[in-house]
Amino acid sequence: MLYDIIVIGGGPSGLNCAHKLSQAGLNVLVFDKCSKIGENKICTGIVGIEAFQRFQLSKDSILNEIRNIRIISPYGSLIEYKHPSILAYVVDREKFDAYLAHLALSKGAQMKSKSEVITIDVSEEQVKVIAREQGVLRVYCAKVAVLATGVNFKFNKMLKLGLPEDFLYGVNAHANIKGIDTTTIHIGNSLAPGAFTWITPIKDGWVRIGLMAKKHPRFYFKKFCEMVSNSNGPLDIASVGYKPIAQGLVSKTCTDRVIAVGETAGQVKTTTGGGIYYGLLCSEIAVQVILKGFKKNSFNASAFSEYEELWKKKIGNEIKTGYYMRKMYSKLTDWQIEQLFHIAKSNGLLSFIEKRMEFDWHRNLLLSLIQTTPIGRFFSKIIQ
Ligand SMILES: Cc1cc2nc3c(=O)[nH]c(=O)nc-3n(C[C@H](O)[C@H](O)[C@H](O)COP(=O)(O)OP(=O)(O)OC[C@H]3O[C@@H](n4cnc5c(N)ncnc54)[C@H](O)[C@@H]3O)c2cc1C
Repeated sequence: MLYDIIVIGGGPSGLNCAHKLSQAGLNVLVFDKCSKIGENKICTGIVGIEAFQRFQLSKDSILNEIRNIRIISPYGSLIEYKHPSILAYVVDREKFDAYLAHLALSKGAQMKSKSEVITIDVSEEQVKVIAREQGVLRVYCAKVAVLATGVNFKFNKMLKLGLPEDFLYGVNAHANIKGIDTTTIHIGNSLAPGAFTWITPIKDGWVRIGLMAKKHPRFYFKKFCEMVSNSNGPLDIASVGYKPIAQGLVSKTCTDRVIAVGETAGQVKTTTGGGIYYGLLCSEIAVQVILKGFKKNSFNASAFSEYEELWKKKIGNEIKTGYYMRKMYSKLTDWQIEQLFHIAKSNGLLSFIEKRMEFDWHRNLLLSLIQTTPIGRFFSKIIQ
């Protein structure tokens, strides 16, 4: 059987494509190597309010809401950011992804879990995929394939697509600890080089605790847990997972008959490492371009190049600016970060930030901080 669409990867990006393409009347087959959609995802599950307003997402997956954020400097100073409304939700990723799968299934998509695609071959007439299903290799064919394999870049390499410029290394754990009632972020290059740590409360002492770092995530996570235990008492860790996070713009995200979406295409916020919303946004663009292709019966690289153009127009500058700022930040010593922290606390900068704060869009805020506030002068002195 020749499917219209094969989606490789049943995360939010692939599932949203499957939902919208099935809704448009195409026959869609989704592969995921896990035994259950959304299971064991290494993710804190923080999804901004804008994503919930824009997409049909599972309200049942919401575990907690985030309004306030405490940011702690390398030497222990505190900024308490209080947002006037809900900024984001913390979701249960298994339920969140399962709902997207349910939407796709309800529109007629077929789903194969425990089915790992091991190779993909593109010819003039079709895309051929070989999947391993309970030890047996099976061949499937489609007119178009959507690559949505998260941080598995095997097919990017196979199809000569681009790769992320860089990676951060992420850790997320489910843990129980006393006394954390607000999402708390620690910054400092001796605690999480190049990035930050987080603890976000769920309920009854349960929290998601994790970090992103340029290197040695296990070492830094252990150090962070010790620090938290010293201040808050015993930290009971139920499960912990490690995973890279794509950073920077991916040069090429489509080719003949294939479009890459989500983290596979580097569609991740370079400031925070969050990838769910950008993946959903870009999957919408992928769907639009694929449907155009079906109207014209044209699936070659030049027909799909519009996808590359449109998604980069939407989030390309966000990714580039965030990546540049992160690189600048990772060069700072803890003492310089402390100074930056004190600049941010003074000069009315917190209300400046509050007015411009958008959970999913950081470029405008970063640029205006650099261009119009003492933070810009601080960085220009360091660069000199
Ligand atoms: C520690 C950590 C914390 C994070 N916290 C957040 C957060 O709070 N908020 C946020 O927005 N983002 C967060 N992220 C990032 C987020 O998890 C990803 O950006 C997001 O899941 C990407 O979605 P996706 O659909 O592109 O890929 P994924 O959700 O990774 O889905 C890819 C799917 O492809 C499947 N797959 C891969 N290869 C194959 C194959 N060969 N055959 C079949 N199936 C395959 C996988 O099983 C997987 O289900 C975090 C990441 C880390 C590491």
